[in-house]
Amino acid sequence: MSGNQPRKIRKLDPTVVNRIAAGEVIQRPSNAIKELMENSLDAGAGSIQISVKSGGLKLLQIQDDGCGINKEDLEIVCERFTTSKLSKFEDLEEIGTYGFRGEALASISHVAHLRIITKTADSVCAYQAEYIDGRLKVIPGVTNPKPCAGNKGTIITAEDLFYNMDIRRRALKAPSEEHNRIVDVVTRYAVHNSKVGFSVKKAGEGNVDMRTPPKSTAVDNIRVLYGGQIARELLEVKHEDEHFKMRGHVTNVNFSTKKFTFLLFINHRLVESAAIRKAVDAVYTSYLPKGSHPFLYLSIEMNPRNVDVNVHPTKNEVHFLHEDLIISATGMADKTAGQGGSSTLKGQGLK
Ligand code: ADP
Ligand code: MG
Repeated sequence: MSGNQPRKIRKLDPTVVNRIAAGEVIQRPSNAIKELMENSLDAGAGSIQISVKSGGLKLLQIQDDGCGINKEDLEIVCERFTTSKLSKFEDLEEIGTYGFRGEALASISHVAHLRIITKTADSVCAYQAEYIDGRLKVIPGVTNPKPCAGNKGTIITAEDLFYNMDIRRRALKAPSEEHNRIVDVVTRYAVHNSKVGFSVKKAGEGNVDMRTPPKSTAVDNIRVLYGGQIARELLEVKHEDEHFKMRGHVTNVNFSTKKFTFLLFINHRLVESAAIRKAVDAVYTSYLPKGSHPFLYLSIEMNPRNVDVNVHPTKNEVHFLHEDLIISATGMADKTAGQGGSSTLKGQGLK
């Protein structure tokens, strides 16, 4: 740089823009799996099977039996901001699907080699398509998409994640850690979506790392995934007022573990809320031995108009109205305990 002279301002190359944006949505393999799993759920899948190689960095594959993608849409499905779920900004206030911005597949195609095999109920065959940087790949001598055999539903394969983002790939150098994160996020979704059967395994290996049967219940899945000890000590949580509805299962005060496990869903999205976590932990702290924690699964539903899911590209964070009311309800004081039909954590036997 020469002295104090400003540098020339230039427009970034679209490929660079897209790759930077993609790195924000897909920060690690478990974000990619979360996005792909949400697409499968949006597609009405009853079964979601995942296989993974090297913590997802070599291979991520997800197979569902959902509605599939129309052949005509395969051309644009991986472009940024192409979606079947949202058409105008106002729809965001009532969004009933996980997806809405049409960024996941695009993002993955900018940082990995992406292949889609899909079949709708009406189509006589399946189609396979390969993508690079948001577009159908041009492969000399090969039609893309090409017809192939397949069942109704979609198989999405992402290989060599971050092959073109050296720093990111090197920062994620422990495949076992990434693998555990994948199993963890699928496990959480499996508890919340107990009607859908899930599995995760390492590609090419027989054993599964987790599996739930279809048409199960949250408690049965907690038993299968987190163990009978936790499942035996669960209390049911139910609360409803004019602002929100809360359902869930939490361990009672006779039970505690070293690890604080908190599955929190707001309008079916897996989210983090430091405020709710703190409120809930405070309720238990007075009852549990020092340094030990509960297991909680809470699902909060409120008018989508009161939730802003559009805070961050990963959608892990949500902002919502009446936060203070909800927080006080999750940890409501003794005044509701013993009043028959009370619904908060304390009211559910945490006395
Ligand atoms: P969004 O979910 O925000 O719409 P995505 O990039 O995740 O954006 O997906 C783009 C579109 O591709 C979706 O709107 C949907 O129509 C289609 N799609 C993606 N995955 C699947 C799937 N597993 N089954 C059926 N359709 C899918
Ligand atoms: Mg999506």
